[in-house]
Amino acid sequence: MPYTIESISHQIGAERFGNKKARIDWILTDSRSLCFPEETLFFALRSKRNDGHKYIIDLYNRGVRNFVVSELPGACEDFPGANFLRVVSPLKALQHLAELHRKEFDVPVVGITGSNGKTVVKEWLYQLISPDKNVTRSPRSYNSQIGVPLSVWLMNEQTEVGIFEAGISEMGEMDALRTIINPTIGVLTNIGGAHQENFFSLQDKCSEKLSLFKDCDVIIYNGDDELICDCVAKTIPSAREIAWSQKDDEKPLYIRSIKKDDTGTTVNYRYLGMENSYRIPFIDDASVENSLNCLAVCLYLMISPEDIAVRMARLEPVAMRLEVKEGKNGCTLINDSYNSDLASLDIALDFMARRTDTKGRKRTLILSDILETGQSATFLYRKVAQLVQNRGIEKIIGVGPDISAAEARFPMEKYFFPDTASLLASDVFASLRNEAILVKGSRKFHFDEVSEQLELKVHETILEINLNAMVDNLNYYRSFLMPDTKMVCMVKASAYGAGSYEIAKTLQDHRVDYLAVAVADEGSDLRKAGITASIIIMNPEMTAFKTLFDYKLEPEVYSFHLLDALIKAAEKQGITNFPIHIKLDTGMHRLGFMPEEIPALIRRLKSQTALLPRSVFSHFVGSDSPQFDDFTRQQNEIFAKASAELQAAFPHKILRHICNSAGIERFPRAHYDMVRLGLGLYGINPVNNAFIHNVSTLKTTILQIHNVPAEDTVGYSRRGVLTRPSRIAALPIGYADGLDRHLGCGHGYCLVNGQKAPYVGNICMDVCMIDVTDIDCQEGDRVEIFGDNLPVSVLSDILETIPYEILTSVSGRVKRVYFQD
Ligand SMILES: *Cc1c(COP(=O)(O)O)cnc(C)c1O
Repeated sequence: MPYTIESISHQIGAERFGNKKARIDWILTDSRSLCFPEETLFFALRSKRNDGHKYIIDLYNRGVRNFVVSELPGACEDFPGANFLRVVSPLKALQHLAELHRKEFDVPVVGITGSNGKTVVKEWLYQLISPDKNVTRSPRSYNSQIGVPLSVWLMNEQTEVGIFEAGISEMGEMDALRTIINPTIGVLTNIGGAHQENFFSLQDKCSEKLSLFKDCDVIIYNGDDELICDCVAKTIPSAREIAWSQKDDEKPLYIRSIKKDDTGTTVNYRYLGMENSYRIPFIDDASVENSLNCLAVCLYLMISPEDIAVRMARLEPVAMRLEVKEGKNGCTLINDSYNSDLASLDIALDFMARRTDTKGRKRTLILSDILETGQSATFLYRKVAQLVQNRGIEKIIGVGPDISAAEARFPMEKYFFPDTASLLASDVFASLRNEAILVKGSRKFHFDEVSEQLELKVHETILEINLNAMVDNLNYYRSFLMPDTKMVCMVKASAYGAGSYEIAKTLQDHRVDYLAVAVADEGSDLRKAGITASIIIMNPEMTAFKTLFDYKLEPEVYSFHLLDALIKAAEKQGITNFPIHIKLDTGMHRLGFMPEEIPALIRRLKSQTALLPRSVFSHFVGSDSPQFDDFTRQQNEIFAKASAELQAAFPHKILRHICNSAGIERFPRAHYDMVRLGLGLYGINPVNNAFIHNVSTLKTTILQIHNVPAEDTVGYSRRGVLTRPSRIAALPIGYADGLDRHLGCGHGYCLVNGQKAPYVGNICMDVCMIDVTDIDCQEGDRVEIFGDNLPVSVLSDILETIPYEILTSVSGRVKRVYFQD
């Protein structure tokens, strides 16, 4: 069913401007993902924070000719050859188009929703069903109002089963998703409640999610969950259901037993009177629950219990995120070695293409045969070659007979190997240098060995940074702002320890207005790495003015001494109107002009043209504590007056700002034109910890375990006194990595397999010891120093300091590893 611009225009009821014929194969909502301009239809979506219409000119210049808009971008004559389809809401049009597309298919479609496990259930179902059916599924976690239509759009003539996730962030959104997915089989994974929620709000949540399944042929859920059963009975009383149960042997799918051992879990079940079993290579409860939901779908789709058992035994962990790692020999490694199909290849290539740290380096793809797509090899590898070329890959290393046979299609530096072992043994593999390498392979090819060998292993301690969590936090704080309020994100001190480049890059992609760092060198490093966003330098040293001018780094100016020197330096370079940011002291008594100095400041600024005040700001002393609220209000009043006085003296707009993270949340009336977000972005909410996601996790591994008799001691100066025969584990992290020595001698603890393990004796420079006597663990096990399960605030409380200090103390030698969906 090839789409044309005519047919789509008609379907979405658009008013059409331009009459060029065009075939449409691709839908685009994010201009950064453009790949096939000629056959792309761009939907200019408006969100609270962004507007797709802004990217039309850029896309036109890159060859896109077809646009769905709510407003025409000026005169259509300026866009020769282009078609504009005008509709009231491009988002609604996109959803409607997907809805009509869905109607073309009379195949089983699984809709998955719930609080946790959606993506895992989707991917596992794919692993379980794809051996004999052609499955179209949502890429990664595309489950939003935009992601769902884009996913459904991927259905084509080959599709025999569709599997789509639906996620909602607000009540009332599910209706739109239902009409697009139109599931015939509904899976509700579970309803997890954050602790503060009561039963009734959970019930609302559950009912809202269930509304996805109103017209399903069957609904699958955990029949032992009272809340869910109750909601199903109320919301969809007539539903046909497979409510699996461990308790009720009357249920159609009765789970007779679940037995865990060291290497997996065996499940015995009875379905329609027949006893069967399967085994999965996982032992955690979430995996067992996910497998039971998958089991019910497979049984309903009439996959035989024997096939189910074979495939369950081979289930692979789902990597939900693309991993970026430092590789050997100066390479950067992007690891996506868990699944392999065209859609996810495209996403991974796109991810790689967007990273500026891959610019100027050779972009290399290591790709295995793509299996089980149901498409002919000719068609498949023609597409692959096109994608690979359009996304700027300069070198391809193919592994497997199919891709090797398609060698001629790849017009770039290329190498082919029959299998993974011959790749690993080759000179080609040994001579990878300073390249950005995407590793992507089907499971069968065991590409985890490829990435493992490419990975740099210097030190087993890493700081893991969850970029998605950071973006969620960004959006959380944005939700407090008026649409026009600008935001500065503080990336000083290596982004509070998280590593400034990756963080700055992500923030720039999310279009924050300003980044702020402490010193000029931090700013020039970001520029050299390709960051183009506006950057404020909070502490411009006198010796670094040239760096400021050369890299367009906008200094904070807090004194006449600094101002005069800066003016002089700028004038010497012949610079005019260089933006600066004026800092006022309203009570911190650290840096800044005093309010009574404003008239003199105005005179000085007006006497020159080298510098131009772009913003004026101050900083709260205690915006996080109610006990200082009177003082905070007083600071705000002083700021309001002084900044207004400065503004009145200039005809151009001078941005005013005073709020930090806590201020954003607690003083909405002090937002002015801009706010400055710091700590909250990095996962620590100074006001209320409930609504924010952890970003940084400091992890290490157990190097060695000793059994130590009670009368012995552990570590330097015999400070680790034991009271019983103990198991003592050594970890490769010490005070030189930023592990505060005061946590030693039992003052602090880390987590080993979820359990608290106290530090024993003095913490050494590179190593420390912990007591694991009561913990089931072995050498090589993961240890969490702080992060997802052990909040930084626990450590800062023990150390009588603040979370900022813990985060910024993680030393530079600890490798930062970034995750992103
Ligand atoms: C660090 C800093 C911030 C951010 O403060 P948080 O409490 O981390 O949100 C804001 N403004 C200035 C001037 C800063 O130095």
